[in-house]
Amino acid sequence: MWFPSVFSILKPGIGPSSSHTLGPALAARDFRKNLENSVAAGGHLQVTLQGSLALTGKGHLTDQAVAAGLCGFDPEGDAPEGLHRVYETLRREDQIRLGGRTFAFDPERDILFDPTTQDLPHPNTMRFRLLDGAGAPVKEETYLSVGGGRVRGGTIPPLPTTPDGGAAPTLQAALDHCLTESCDLARLALENEAAHHGRTEAEVYAQLSLLWRIMSACVEEGLVGEGFLPGRLRLERRASEMFESYQKNIRRWRLLSREITLATIYAIAAAEENAAGGRIVTAPTCGSAGVLPAVLMILKDRFHLPERAVCDGLLVAGFVGGIAAHNGSISGAEVGCQGEVGVAAAMTAAAACHMLEGTVSQVEFAAEVALEHHLGLTCDPVCGLVQIPCIERNAAGAVAALNAANLALLSQGRHLISFDKAVSALLAVGRDMSSKYKETALGGLAVLGPEGV
Ligand code: SF4
Repeated sequence: MWFPSVFSILKPGIGPSSSHTLGPALAARDFRKNLENSVAAGGHLQVTLQGSLALTGKGHLTDQAVAAGLCGFDPEGDAPEGLHRVYETLRREDQIRLGGRTFAFDPERDILFDPTTQDLPHPNTMRFRLLDGAGAPVKEETYLSVGGGRVRGGTIPPLPTTPDGGAAPTLQAALDHCLTESCDLARLALENEAAHHGRTEAEVYAQLSLLWRIMSACVEEGLVGEGFLPGRLRLERRASEMFESYQKNIRRWRLLSREITLATIYAIAAAEENAAGGRIVTAPTCGSAGVLPAVLMILKDRFHLPERAVCDGLLVAGFVGGIAAHNGSISGAEVGCQGEVGVAAAMTAAAACHMLEGTVSQVEFAAEVALEHHLGLTCDPVCGLVQIPCIERNAAGAVAALNAANLALLSQGRHLISFDKAVSALLAVGRDMSSKYKETALGGLAVLGPEGV
């Protein structure tokens, strides 16, 4: 049976947002590729951001991502600092040179924010246009940033879909396969990569090791990062101070376990790194990228696990996230934060349960518990920045994931609601949710506070 690739969920990227920074940069880079292959002698470029991208794009650096992508910036490989540098250069030069041709483009003038158009093909829609000297369109492309840095449109390969005649990939089907074949979810995920995504076992583990290095570096950088995060909230980074305080007063942390305390600090460290525009791994998105590394790092240290065990945890997490993205959504603009931190918690709970030798039924239960208790979670980022509530929410998601794994391990895995049903509920709740709570910064915390900003 076909399942999505774990690497469609776990991808290197830059903060602060997978749908609003990473996706737009990839779309712009693709449009540049189109220009490279076109016969256009030059012209004037214009980009229109619509829906949630127009409403929270400034705080999520969408304009900088689009400008940098049009200049060829690769958000998956280039140094994150390059984003701002390229943007500033472009603002000074007002043009993009490409294969001996010149395209006029001033990001402040030519990136248009259109929050009013309704009936969009997706809440995160981008329209790229090349205009001639008279302002008539010569070339147009529409891109949709559908969550987790995944983009539809242009020459970007379409998102993988269930092969013709195949049933939708469910965790129940995976569970049945594992029980019949006496294997675990990590093994099934590995076989799926080989059978359907053309990756050998060695390639899969090499890529997972690379992702783990980025994830742990993100936490470590976050633990020493100081100063203010970008944006008008002037939010001060706290992870380093929290970590120092924890180390100085270890005995005071008896109220909660050492693991829960560290999960909180590590998740905040990674989420602050993301908010600062640092290098992260989407899990499943940038805004929720602190949950998984925080918990995996604790399990690795606490139980002295080898890197291979962490990679198996990543396989399980990516597998569960792939099903949630395929059958539900991981886009805050589509379903609110239940699709971001909620799915991150489900992925992480499943990984933790697997790494602690839970059965496949317990792994499924852990994922379900974590997702179920995030249903209805809104996305209402203050000032449109991925900071409040996002940073602390990663900590809450990491703790919830540990708790869900614990609950599943304490049980025999028997439960009445399946993970697949929780994913269906996620989608249904997301559809019913007012757009005010779907990454538009038009409701909830976003309109209430804080004072004086
Ligand atoms: S509230 Fe959740 S979904 Fe919204 S930007 Fe923050 S992390 Fe992403």
